Amino acid sequence: MADYDLAIIGGGLNGVCMARDAAGRGLRVVLIEQGDLGSGHSASMGLMQGHFTGIERGALLGISRLLAERGKWLNNAPHLVRPLQMTMPAHDDHRPPWMIRSMLQIYDRLSPRQGLPRSASLDVTHHEAGVPLKRPFGLAFAWSECVADISRLLVLAAVDAAERGATVMTGARCVRADRTDIWRLALVNRGRRTSLTARALANAAGAWIPSVAETVLRIAAPPMKLMVSSQIVLKRRFDHHGVYAFQNNDRELIYAAPWHGDFTIVGNAERPFTGDPAIVSASAEDVNHLCRATGRYFREPVEAVDVVHLQSALYPAGLRGGDGGIGTVRFDAGRKAAPLLTVFGGDATMSRRRAEMAVSRLTPFYPMSRPWTATAPLPGGDFPWDRLGDQIERAQERWPFLDARQAARLVAAYGTRLEVILGAARSRDDLGPRFGPDLTAAEARYLMTNEWARFPEDILWRRSKLGLSMSRESCEALARFMTTAAEPQPYLSSTANACVERSVFRS
Ligand SMILES: Cc1cc2nc3c(=O)[nH]c(=O)nc-3n(C[C@H](O)[C@H](O)[C@H](O)COP(=O)(O)OP(=O)(O)OC[C@H]3O[C@@H](n4cnc5c(N)ncnc54)[C@H](O)[C@@H]3O)c2cc1C
Repeated sequence: MADYDLAIIGGGLNGVCMARDAAGRGLRVVLIEQGDLGSGHSASMGLMQGHFTGIERGALLGISRLLAERGKWLNNAPHLVRPLQMTMPAHDDHRPPWMIRSMLQIYDRLSPRQGLPRSASLDVTHHEAGVPLKRPFGLAFAWSECVADISRLLVLAAVDAAERGATVMTGARCVRADRTDIWRLALVNRGRRTSLTARALANAAGAWIPSVAETVLRIAAPPMKLMVSSQIVLKRRFDHHGVYAFQNNDRELIYAAPWHGDFTIVGNAERPFTGDPAIVSASAEDVNHLCRATGRYFREPVEAVDVVHLQSALYPAGLRGGDGGIGTVRFDAGRKAAPLLTVFGGDATMSRRRAEMAVSRLTPFYPMSRPWTATAPLPGGDFPWDRLGDQIERAQERWPFLDARQAARLVAAYGTRLEVILGAARSRDDLGPRFGPDLTAAEARYLMTNEWARFPEDILWRRSKLGLSMSRESCEALARFMTTAAEPQPYLSSTANACVERSVFRS
């Protein structure tokens, strides 16, 4: 008998959502990730949207599917997903106002009624949304979308998978997979060679899918064109919680969104990519493009020198939004050839549904229970989406040493699971040493024990974005803490500087 029913290569959103779905349906699952969970994709603004401009292409079915999924995430991950107002300043050079108004009316009809405000025209000369904008913009359009903390969503989906019995391996690279009536996998797991067997295999290796197909599975790679998508982070440009959608010369939208308190994130600059997926970076042209596009709208100039952080990641071309965000699920099996799933692309919004579709392809092979994730909250998400404020208030009552900002950050990251981290603490000192103003040893230890964090950057850039405001000294102190708090493991000799590699600190 094989060790597992399903082995999944790749701990990105597609891999973890499949692991969660399959584990909850009774399969014995192993998830194999060569780095950290989500390390292939740390660059996302996390917009969960129906892509309303798809109406121009008549993509109504895709839009309504995306909007339905958006609603499910809002219900199932109310700590990680929040509604927001999207604002698009009217611009005479692009879509005329009457066109945007009619498209938004259709969009309203496609949106499930969830208590989110309908679209509206805004006189931004008398509205907070107009404050950061240049004077000529008097009219704007507003509608509802959602934004999610995708990195945490991904990690919490993995936590749920593990709690339902999945084995989650990080720092484990699949180097070979031999196919007969089962799969035999060779791994390099934290420096050690190991092997395992599985009845089915999923290649969910994101941008590495072609190289995994060719070098690990030794089959033809699926056709896949990669795009590199980049974002810039600026010091905060506006005080409200909404997101701007700026029309650009090429009819694409550039978004500017609030980001982790003191920052504004601007994206996306996209261009075709060839090369090694492990080496992706924003070019000077990407940065200039984003500065130019936002500089047309913001009153304060936006220049390359204002960029405090850059991030980039790869995604398969043409597979976001345009196809209703569903991406690609390929299935292949035969006599004496164990099943192989290849899953890639698509919007984060559709990742739950995509995983459900992928795992369901295995139903002819194994008995498994029915799809279940549509109504199941992620860990910590067992409260209604419009009660986040109550949860924050409750946290401040329970742990009065938290200020409003700390309580909001912690509840937004952990939801009702905050209890496990803070427990009976009566003061900040009960939570151990501090790294920077916000991170405590209790939180870091929880992330190491329960969420597979191994290195400072796992905590500072993926399970939080505290790296944005942490000094080099605090990063180094955290690295020392993680080395001593962990079981002695050779891989923890990573440099203390890992956490500052990606950021350009300016404060
Ligand atoms: C820049 C960017 C921005 C995005 N923004 C949005 C957004 O705003 N809204 C939205 O809805 N969607 C967005 N998306 C899309 C969404 O996030 C995708 O659904 C998601 O990226 C899917 O990733 P994945 O799991 O297929 O691949 P990845 O996240 O790349 O994961 C693949 C994993 O496989 C691992 N791996 C590779 N080879 C091996 C091996 N041999 N052994 C073990 N592990 C291996 C890699 O380390 C990697 O972690 C964005 C995507 C990108 C790239």
